[in-house]
Amino acid sequence: MFIIILGLREIKGDKGMFKLVTAPNGVRYYISDKIENTGLVRHGFTTRAGGVSSGCYSSLNLRFNCDDSRENVLENYRLAAEAIGISPQSLVLSCQVHEDNVLNASAEDRGNGIWRDNRFKSADGLVTNEYDTALVTHYADCVPILMVNVNTGAVASVHSGWKGTVKRIAAKAAVKLTADYGGDTGDIIAAIGPSIRIDHFEVGDEVAEQFINEFGCDAAKKFGEKYHVDMQQSIIRSLMDVGVKRENIDDSGICTYCECESLYSHRASNGNRGTHGAIISKIRKQDDR
Ligand SMILES: [Zn+2]
Repeated sequence: MFIIILGLREIKGDKGMFKLVTAPNGVRYYISDKIENTGLVRHGFTTRAGGVSSGCYSSLNLRFNCDDSRENVLENYRLAAEAIGISPQSLVLSCQVHEDNVLNASAEDRGNGIWRDNRFKSADGLVTNEYDTALVTHYADCVPILMVNVNTGAVASVHSGWKGTVKRIAAKAAVKLTADYGGDTGDIIAAIGPSIRIDHFEVGDEVAEQFINEFGCDAAKKFGEKYHVDMQQSIIRSLMDVGVKRENIDDSGICTYCECESLYSHRASNGNRGTHGAIISKIRKQDDR
């Protein structure tokens, strides 16, 4: 499988390094260097590019239950899987309800929520230790986190909106990844994908208060009259609190609101938007790409 790397996004400071990849089928997605370099998984954070949907869903919309057709969304999942180099049949969709449940996915769950009914009732995070079982969370401003434990190859895909962030769902997934499949949280590599950043994430006082209570004063800042919260730093803090090393966390630094031409943003579009996917699958060995 061949990939073309269009451009490197070098993020200054301690953030991380993500690459924007264009697959032969036209799908564009971001990969985290830290995750890619493990050689244990295939993964991607999809963008809007390369799908078949139109209008506000243009074009790689992975959101069911909206005005986009089911056929379009299914084709988009197929294209995204093909681009990342995994079987479309291996995809396992979460069931996101802004709670903090992290569930185990098994080989029997392949196709869940995509090619057949979603058996989960509440699963904003998924973990698995099985090969070729591709975990999918979807989002459009909320924070996607992908993880792999380098000792076991076990993987996690997590959707962390502001509620899930306050409930520390990413840390919960990191703990579950090791409790269920072995290894240590110090061996986890985590990547934080495109999501709305503090400059554009204005919230009410009661939301800011929850962030400050949970993560301290740095988690929220006043921009004029209104509070803004920093979900990504809060997630990094929560991961470090359970033993994930800062140097093992790759933060894209990419803001969905700022980049709403190439990424879906709930706030920038007043809710008229599709969703991207954060997809990760444990593979048997490093492939030829
Ligand atoms: Zn922004």
